[in-house]
Amino acid sequence: MITFEEAFRIVTESSFRLGKEEVSLGEAAGRALTVAVKSDMDMPPWNKSAVDGYACRHTDLGQEMIMVETIAAGTLPEKQVEPGTCSRIMTGAAVPAGADYVFMLEDSEVLSDGRIRFTGRPGNDNIARVGEDIMKDQTVLRPGRYIKPQDIAVLASVGATRVTVSCRPTIGVISTGNELVEPDCVPAGAQIRNSNSSQLMAQVARAGAIGKYYGIARDDEESITTLMKKALQEVDVLLISGGVSFGDFDLVPRVMRSLGLKLHFDQVAMQPGKPLTFCTGERKAVFGLPGNPVSTFVQFEVMVRAFLDRMAGVTEHAPVLQMSLGADYSRKRAERLSWIPCTVTPAGEAMPVEYHGSAHITSLTGAWGMIIIPRGQSWIQKGELVSVRQI
Ligand code: AMP
Ligand code: MG
Repeated sequence: MITFEEAFRIVTESSFRLGKEEVSLGEAAGRALTVAVKSDMDMPPWNKSAVDGYACRHTDLGQEMIMVETIAAGTLPEKQVEPGTCSRIMTGAAVPAGADYVFMLEDSEVLSDGRIRFTGRPGNDNIARVGEDIMKDQTVLRPGRYIKPQDIAVLASVGATRVTVSCRPTIGVISTGNELVEPDCVPAGAQIRNSNSSQLMAQVARAGAIGKYYGIARDDEESITTLMKKALQEVDVLLISGGVSFGDFDLVPRVMRSLGLKLHFDQVAMQPGKPLTFCTGERKAVFGLPGNPVSTFVQFEVMVRAFLDRMAGVTEHAPVLQMSLGADYSRKRAERLSWIPCTVTPAGEAMPVEYHGSAHITSLTGAWGMIIIPRGQSWIQKGELVSVRQI
């Protein structure tokens, strides 16, 4: 059995990069950016009013002013603001020359002769300066991140309608087990429904990869070999769940070897997911994920995600938060790194949820994140800081 850190190092170092492609703005969300994006203009492009109100000279705030024009967003000012004058201006419009202050409509009064008076107290000038958000030629997005919806706004603003991203990897999914039937079947006798495949396909989709499902392999070498061989011809990464423990019918590692794959490890000091098995071929990686659905879920989030991030060239990772533990925690054995599901209390503490072990799938639906309990630590007092990752 190797440590989590060692397994993580092997997995991430085994990752390989795929090619790049150009996609349109509409297809860019969730993709891994590989080329920096620069702005083709200043933002704002001119001094811009941040409010609906009147643009004037700061020194004129104490006097009544003659309004010379109305400037809507989308039209440029035609008149200069001279001493004793102001322009009515809308949010987002360019501040006219001569003005260095905009006061809000709410702080104004129109006198009977049509002149304008400032009724507020001088403060912020309500002007966003040219280039204060983005300067022309400035790098607005750096490579090494998945593009988020809010990044799309930046790309759109600077006219980056095509961006260069990593190609999506294709990830194959296979489940093993004679007990499994697909979710649309009613299990009979000793059967249960296959939940891992659907869960993994959803995790693959969330990771921005292309999932390809190959079905259920029976617990015999021939069935596992047939499906694995087919998948390995078509995918970059293969996820095969179940059959990696030490039971009589846990045949996956044997098949991996017989297919000429290099087996790097078949046990990790981590809970859940100790039997995680990892092997590689020529620009291929295969994760043998433990059969229990919570183990499968966690090992995907920890190991497979890290592998896929590397593949995509992504260097920004999900943050590990330091949160106060909501209740005392203890465990009998501490030789493994543990991930336990938790919620967040209204006071912001990480509170472990009821968790019966790695088959207890509903514990995850009630969880916000996972508390990471270091190896060697068998108890933690309420109020101590613990590491937490959102799931
Ligand atoms: P295994 O790793 O094959 O020994 O499986 C460990 C446990 O996980 C057993 O109780 C299996 O029935 C269960 N299991 C294995 N594969 C799946 C699956 N695809 N969906 C749901 N449960 C599974
Ligand atoms: Mg099995």
